[in-house]
Amino acid sequence: MADVKEEVQAETEGEVALEAPPRGSAEELLDAEAGEPLDPMRHSAAHVMAEAVLDLFPGTKLGIGPAIADGFYYDFELPRTLKPEDLEAIAARMAASIKADHPFVRRELPPEEGRAFFEERGQPYKVEILADLAARAKAEGQPMPPVSVYEHGQFVDLCKGPHVESTGKIGPFKLLAVAGAYWRGDEKRPMLQRIYGTVWPTQEDLDRFLWRREEAKKRDHRRLGVQLDLFSFHDVSPGAAFWHPKGWTLYRTLENAMRELQAGRDYQEIYTPPLVAQKLWQQSGHWDLYREHMFLFESEGQTFSLKPMNCPESTYVYRSRVRSYRDLPLRFSEYGKLHRNELSGTLSGLTRVRHFVQDDGHIYLRPDQIGSEIEAVLGEVREAYSWVGLTPRLTFGTRPDKALGDPALWDRAEALIQEALDRSGAEYRVKLKDGAFYAPKIDIQVDDALGREWQTATIQVDLVMLPERFDLWYIDEEGHQQRPVAIHRAIYGSLERFIGVITEHFAGAFPLWLAPVQAVIVPIADRHVGAADELAAVMRDRGLRVEVDGSENRMQNKIRLAQGQKVPYMVVLGDREIDARTASPRTRSGEQQPAEPWDAFADRLAAESRERRAD
Ligand SMILES: [Zn+2]
Ligand SMILES: [Zn+2]
Repeated sequence: MADVKEEVQAETEGEVALEAPPRGSAEELLDAEAGEPLDPMRHSAAHVMAEAVLDLFPGTKLGIGPAIADGFYYDFELPRTLKPEDLEAIAARMAASIKADHPFVRRELPPEEGRAFFEERGQPYKVEILADLAARAKAEGQPMPPVSVYEHGQFVDLCKGPHVESTGKIGPFKLLAVAGAYWRGDEKRPMLQRIYGTVWPTQEDLDRFLWRREEAKKRDHRRLGVQLDLFSFHDVSPGAAFWHPKGWTLYRTLENAMRELQAGRDYQEIYTPPLVAQKLWQQSGHWDLYREHMFLFESEGQTFSLKPMNCPESTYVYRSRVRSYRDLPLRFSEYGKLHRNELSGTLSGLTRVRHFVQDDGHIYLRPDQIGSEIEAVLGEVREAYSWVGLTPRLTFGTRPDKALGDPALWDRAEALIQEALDRSGAEYRVKLKDGAFYAPKIDIQVDDALGREWQTATIQVDLVMLPERFDLWYIDEEGHQQRPVAIHRAIYGSLERFIGVITEHFAGAFPLWLAPVQAVIVPIADRHVGAADELAAVMRDRGLRVEVDGSENRMQNKIRLAQGQKVPYMVVLGDREIDARTASPRTRSGEQQPAEPWDAFADRLAAESRERRAD
């Protein structure tokens, strides 16, 4: 049951901020093992950075220094605030230590000696971690284990490892930034200075990373959201976007495309209440394991929550009548408005939010239908991602050790899923024991234009949670009650996160079908505005989203503005075009296209838009 929480968290997609301050236990604070192959080198670079800082600023108190995605950091309590020049000096000292090729040596000290060691060196944060470990060992009735330290050269750190062999094995690195970070992520504790760095096996890897980082800054969806007038964030509702007309058009366009796909696959859309009584979550198991992430309210002596997920409520619609084997698969889709009470300090743009909508679906089916249904859902995934030019990669997570339900049913379900995956021709890898405790699952990841991996959505084949806990059944051919299987599936995942990902992927230059404004018509002079409105009407008739720039700006300015807004087509209208009733479109990349009659131009764009091509 411990995994309910992990699963529901995983359901909304890599919402774990990789650079979030480590919270919680002392052990977590010491855990350098994030599991990536480069992590020992990254974490070793953090030790070398701490050595350099201690050299340059005697009396520095050391926090922690883990490996993170693409690099490392270390938190320091320093006698003064760091300046950018300090990073250069620190980097130079680090380079010297790397050149000296000091071996990393692990030692174990008896607990008391370990504590005394860090006390003598004036390292209260290390002493605090040791005290926590001792208190925990005591609470568990265990003896305090020896204190493990790693040393290289003159530097010694409290550390579980692992490390590379010697400092010489640390590749090309760069120190990136300094930021404030509360000790243990707790705003009541001291604010430390955190230095971020990155380190790679080769100079080429480092250069590529630095390029990607620069490019990512330019593409940051929070920045583009303002620039393109898509959405904004305000402190009156942390972690929830305010959608502006253009952003909401984008949102609805994505949603409607999915609705159309689902209609073709015989989904039926439902809508269940956002405000739900506590007893539902007790029945589903979320109350015990997920309560701290739910917004709770009292009304007339009852506790309610804003739903953090749609799953359990869909069972009420299923159970509203007797279902026969002939009714299955029964496919319910729902664009449920979800709320999760994430810590305000961890919220970030559209990718880590408190409020979001999932393009959710719950499919109820007979066990023998698992294979064909999974294959069909994989087809939906492939189609939807082709609209944005992303190739989904799939990870198949199998039965974990603590799984609920009949092992024979698990084996059968897993075999059917694997067959469906093989038949689909999709690229996938298997992660053993990575399924939910109630369901084998397929996670969907994409790599964007910068090669960054995003987890977007998931497909789970639920054998237990909804079917058993909510006592679902159908009548089989012989008139007996049978348990259905429930597939939970989201394809975009959260609409908010998906829009954040594709905004960065396209750097805001959305393909025609998605662009909030598909064409801007630019009348050269005031007397051309009437004809521009006429052309706009011709295009709007075909469902195109068109603006007329009737402002007093000069033509060149209008074109530049439209380009800045990344509008796919611009049409300049002057006397000549109006007389001939033609349009000479320019694309946002600057290509001048041949003149076409208005109708033909509008037809062509409408057809292109309907195709939902990503280019
Ligand atoms: Zn270490
Ligand atoms: Zn679900």
